[in-house]
Amino acid sequence: MNRSLPDVLADILTFKGALLERIEDGYLEFIVPPSLSKTLGVPEHGKLSFVYPPFDESVISASYESDFFRSIDRLFPGKGKIAKAVYSSHLPNIEKVSRWVSEKIAFSNASFRLQKVDNQRIAYALIFFKYVALSDEKREGVFFLLVNEENFSTFPLNANLTAFWEDLKEPEEIYTKGERISKALRAGFSAASLIVKEEFEPFIKSLERRLNRDIIRVFEYYETLKSEIHKTFEKKFFSEKESSEEQSEEGRKVLSGRLDVVEGEKRWKIQDLVSKYALNIRIEPICIIDIETESLVFWLEVRRRLSSRIFPLSYNPFLKKVDSLPCENCFHPRGTYYLCDEKLHILCATCFKKCPGCGREYCSVCYPKGCPRCKK
Ligand SMILES: [Zn+2]
Ligand SMILES: [Zn+2]
Ligand SMILES: [Zn+2]
Repeated sequence: MNRSLPDVLADILTFKGALLERIEDGYLEFIVPPSLSKTLGVPEHGKLSFVYPPFDESVISASYESDFFRSIDRLFPGKGKIAKAVYSSHLPNIEKVSRWVSEKIAFSNASFRLQKVDNQRIAYALIFFKYVALSDEKREGVFFLLVNEENFSTFPLNANLTAFWEDLKEPEEIYTKGERISKALRAGFSAASLIVKEEFEPFIKSLERRLNRDIIRVFEYYETLKSEIHKTFEKKFFSEKESSEEQSEEGRKVLSGRLDVVEGEKRWKIQDLVSKYALNIRIEPICIIDIETESLVFWLEVRRRLSSRIFPLSYNPFLKKVDSLPCENCFHPRGTYYLCDEKLHILCATCFKKCPGCGREYCSVCYPKGCPRCKK
């Protein structure tokens, strides 16, 4: 599944009757039939470029955010962005997994009891996201997330995808449950943003390093320039014995004017560097496969103080392990799990925030706008 964009596009175009040849790294030469040329809005013969920015005006950019990439959609008219699939699962021993759930699932501030285990139909949304990160260079790619449509537990999939990809089958009957999918998409999108942010952390660090290095260079260059100007003026206006008071005054004015110009240019150059190294990341869902399967659902009765809540945790038949608990705020849990006091939302350590103002912990789902105490 982890194939490059040129390979995937080449497959699609070949399937539609095109002839393609890789001429060098990052370029594909094509000949397409007239009908395909019309549908895609490209000449019958040309070159596709996967290089950013494309150096040659005569080539057609085919990167993820190009018009060409979007035009590929037209090759699949009537086919939506959501596909349905079924997966036949192989379920494990119920006792063994139940024991695992009772022993390994844990909350930092709550307890739970395994109420019952059901064998039932459940659904997962497999969501494909593309990302484009632009700064002084461009990075882009595609990644996949598996989202449980019942409890919105999310999993990034890498090589794992190949393990079950081939076992997906077309369903016999199709019924829609749009609301579930859109909730899964929202959860997936939240998780995807955090995953991409984490992924780019080393890159952001390197951008900051390069920015600092360049700013120091610019700063030193202009400071040296300023001291040179100073020296020249010293010699010309202030050191000669015969220079009059008037001449010195005139000199000071010219000098301060020159220095202001240099200072202005320095600031402008630094601002320029800041925008050059600024990172702009965009994430977009490309398509969703709604996969139905049968699995074990562990109904947990979660208790916090005097309240309780029933929460379904599933055995994930694709990954062959129990789903992790979700974080009902960010959907990309980091650290241990907590329950909120009011509605018993499940939160990760990052989302069960301590208010910097009053030190009290609060739930980011119940209070998305911040600490309820300090707001008032
Ligand atoms: Zn969280
Ligand atoms: Zn507070
Ligand atoms: Zn809450």
